[in-house]
Amino acid sequence: EAELIARRDAVLGASYRLQYRKPVHFVRGEGMWLYDPDDRPYLDFYNNVPSLGHCHPEVNAAMAEQAARLNANTRYLEPRLVEYAERLTSTFPPELDRVVFTCTGSESNDLALRIARLASGGEGVIVTSYAYHGTSAAVAAVSPNLGAAVNLSPYARIARLPGPAGVSDADASGFFEAEVRAAIADLQRRGIGVAALLFDSIFSSDGVWIDPPGFIAGAVEAVREVGGLVISDEVQPGFGRTGAHMWGFERHGIVPDLVTLGKPMGNGFPIGGVVGRRSPMEKFGNTARYSNTFAGNTVGIAAADAVLTILQRDCIMESVLAASARLHAGLEQIASETPGIRAIRNAGLFFGVDIGLDSDSTHQRRGRALDVVNLMRDDGVLISTTSANEDTLKIRPPLVCQEEHVELFLRSLRKALVEASS
Ligand code: PMP
Repeated sequence: EAELIARRDAVLGASYRLQYRKPVHFVRGEGMWLYDPDDRPYLDFYNNVPSLGHCHPEVNAAMAEQAARLNANTRYLEPRLVEYAERLTSTFPPELDRVVFTCTGSESNDLALRIARLASGGEGVIVTSYAYHGTSAAVAAVSPNLGAAVNLSPYARIARLPGPAGVSDADASGFFEAEVRAAIADLQRRGIGVAALLFDSIFSSDGVWIDPPGFIAGAVEAVREVGGLVISDEVQPGFGRTGAHMWGFERHGIVPDLVTLGKPMGNGFPIGGVVGRRSPMEKFGNTARYSNTFAGNTVGIAAADAVLTILQRDCIMESVLAASARLHAGLEQIASETPGIRAIRNAGLFFGVDIGLDSDSTHQRRGRALDVVNLMRDDGVLISTTSANEDTLKIRPPLVCQEEHVELFLRSLRKALVEASS
């Protein structure tokens, strides 16, 4: 193992960080479980890409069947591409009736920024304090989560979220709107037009600040008043993770101009997309030449089509609501009995749990959160951390999580909290 880590470091380099103090090696996955070479099972409460469960047999069969027959690009007539595009857009409000396919969430956001800049004539992009939107040069430059190592674009502005700023729910909407209006004013003072407000409606890398529902509506208005577009990054909340809605923006009662998709769309096969209103999408299509070799290829569409079918047929969102309610209740109970949980926030099966004692320093809280994550890993349960200080547990199981998995998870968390505080 040590030898493999050394070889890995030598050839892959520093950006390929391993998760956990004691890295794990998996050789197969099935449903909620990953297995190491000794066939030890690990309960996966972290991976949101295989949202229908690891190695879903039906998705695999759809991909294998298509790969054995044909894997071609979008420049040929292909009924399934059109059918899937129709099925996908029918899950959105009727104004959002166009789609362009990509391979990753980063590409989706990169393309959405190009569309928004063309449609608005502006360059400025407003994001939240610890937002992450992807890897391309353009989206990394509007991803403050990447820290000082990546220079924010001179066209990027930050709007602080109400939750981490300690603002009450009653004042949240006004606070966020004022932040966005201040960002707009600052851009305009420098002669920069506003292209977009770009947000992930779960605010996952900010630490999962989802409440109160609707708090972004005033900010959306403010951006539209100056001709900017509203881009909802659904890479995290999309495809039913919040349980109550297929798309995270619905929770806030708004209809964006552009919506970006990724991660769970192909349950592991790299496929993403931008869904949008006709006007900006057509303006872009008529002006720019967009071609993407792999995006929307026949195998990717087969995977995405199978994912959408299973999501709808198996009523996955209903089971998300049931599992998340049980998980929330269990976390509340642990918090009432065991010290070390300061707050619990969730939308469906995306939870942020703030770790630490009120008397802890930020550094101590981060240490405790990391201890909990690593103790649980040793116990065979996978989670991670998020937020500005990395002192929030990020709990994000595949959507097929059942009550029995929730119970196993809660037992492991309780044990880890006790050990971490002893
Ligand atoms: N947006 C959000 C909100 C994300 O969480 C991520 C990935 N963590 C991305 C975009 C980028 O997606 P990808 O890694 O598929 O390019």
